[in-house]
Amino acid sequence: MNGLMMQRQLLISDLLTHAERHHGAQEIVSRRTEGDIHRYTFRDLAARSRRLAAALAELGVEPGTRVATLAWNGYRHLELYYAVSGSGAVLHTLNPRLHADQLEWIVADADDRVLFFDLTFLPLIEELAPRLRGVRHLVLMADREHLPDRPGRLLAYEDLVAAHDDGHRWPEFDESTASSLCYTSGTTGNPKGVLYSHRSTVLHTYAVALPDSVGLSARDTVLPIVPMFHVNAWGLPYAACMVGAKVVFPGPDLDGRSLHELQEAEGVTVSASVPTVWQGQLEHMREHGLTFTTLERAVIGGAACPPAMLRELEETHGVTVVHGWGMTETSPFGTASTLKGKHLDATPDERHTVQGKQGRCVFGMDLEIVDDSGRALPWDGRTAGHLMARGPWVVSRYFGRTDEDPLRDGWFPTGDIATIDADGYMQITDRSKDVIKSGGEWISSIDLENIAMGHPDVSMAACIGARHPKWDERPLLIVVPRPGATMSPADLLALFDGKVAKWWTPDDVVFVDAIPMGATGKMLKAPLRERFGDHLTE
Ligand code: ADP
Repeated sequence: MNGLMMQRQLLISDLLTHAERHHGAQEIVSRRTEGDIHRYTFRDLAARSRRLAAALAELGVEPGTRVATLAWNGYRHLELYYAVSGSGAVLHTLNPRLHADQLEWIVADADDRVLFFDLTFLPLIEELAPRLRGVRHLVLMADREHLPDRPGRLLAYEDLVAAHDDGHRWPEFDESTASSLCYTSGTTGNPKGVLYSHRSTVLHTYAVALPDSVGLSARDTVLPIVPMFHVNAWGLPYAACMVGAKVVFPGPDLDGRSLHELQEAEGVTVSASVPTVWQGQLEHMREHGLTFTTLERAVIGGAACPPAMLRELEETHGVTVVHGWGMTETSPFGTASTLKGKHLDATPDERHTVQGKQGRCVFGMDLEIVDDSGRALPWDGRTAGHLMARGPWVVSRYFGRTDEDPLRDGWFPTGDIATIDADGYMQITDRSKDVIKSGGEWISSIDLENIAMGHPDVSMAACIGARHPKWDERPLLIVVPRPGATMSPADLLALFDGKVAKWWTPDDVVFVDAIPMGATGKMLKAPLRERFGDHLTE
């Protein structure tokens, strides 16, 4: 017997309609590529998104058509989020930090027909345009005055919006319809497309907003620093509409000073970004003796949050850290390190140990760890295994590769190595390709990096497995010192005493000026292994 409740489809356009009807006066503030601050409301967002949707239809965008964006976090990008997906077309967010050849490859693989881009990327688009053969329209996300003297086939975004009224009605369709497409960073092999649906996105949005996740509400002001071009800014642009939170977009300036000014000026309560961006922000604040007056929660993910960062945010600035884990294939939100009731009376150190883990699942996401033969491993907080994920917002097939099945027994192999403790808190010890194997035993590079980051003179630290004649691999620590630092390798190695088993202590330390970073703001260890892989055998 079926239930007798309404069978309403879960559609992204309904998030926008809800925001307009119930939070119409709520503000969206954007620092624009044009250089100024732009303000409007959810009501304006909804009206302009409808006008844009009408313009898209006129450009020949149909259900399923891929529409690409090359843009920072801002209100026009948000309009595209809703106008494209709301029309039944697919929003394909491109990562501008990729090499031009990779962008060309991805645009062709996705078969993008329209490409919207921010002013910053005009030179890149002028260079790329002849190579983007399938793209019928290139749209500069600004007004006509910003078009170059000879625009060729370029259109101006504001012309499109101005040419239509806001009477457009969002179509209704099946919630399994594709809504957006995001490619993995492809550190190994070609990038792969993850194709989200309306249903997966709306369910993921609920999960992001829950109190044991980001805990977003109509009383919050959220600053998504994590880019809208990378896994939908962790779902925050959707969650803000779902709950009616004020949104602040940083545009292209992600340095410590610009971010702090914006957080203070707009009363930001929740700010979300990868550890390297937080690092830049904390360094700026330390240098200028600043603190936060309104920030309540710092959402940190994409790479491990070093315990020293957690302590500084909580103890110096009174900001609660929400450490999260996820990946493109999980939409991305997988876990968050929010506390349980039993931790409320714990000492600060005990609490920080829990929060330093990558966290536990909210309903919808499920995890397990397995050994090499796929057997489930115990949740004892010590046994590390391959992390597997499943849930309605986890990938089942990659875009254009539906004949390949990436799942194992219905679970998605994340490529991460992790432990899970008896309370369900998962801790990543490594990316499987980064794990250090010494004498057949695993050593967690993340644990070693976290300890090194605790030294006040260390700006960034990476640990790799360097080849070793006896143990196959031994940990080698690679460190970027802070300006004016005077530490020696011995000072750093002394830090590990008593914190890890003796045989985990790195064999040596090398100092470098910089560590190569990938397109999503994470350290790239492959070039480090290439450069320093033989350091211990030389
Ligand atoms: P890519 O896998 O191509 O780098 P993603 O953004 O999808 O791009 O990255 C997902 C990976 O990032 C995860 O599989 C994990 O290795 C790493 N990651 C994400 N969040 C964390 C975290 N909080 N701690 C450690 N690693 C993390």
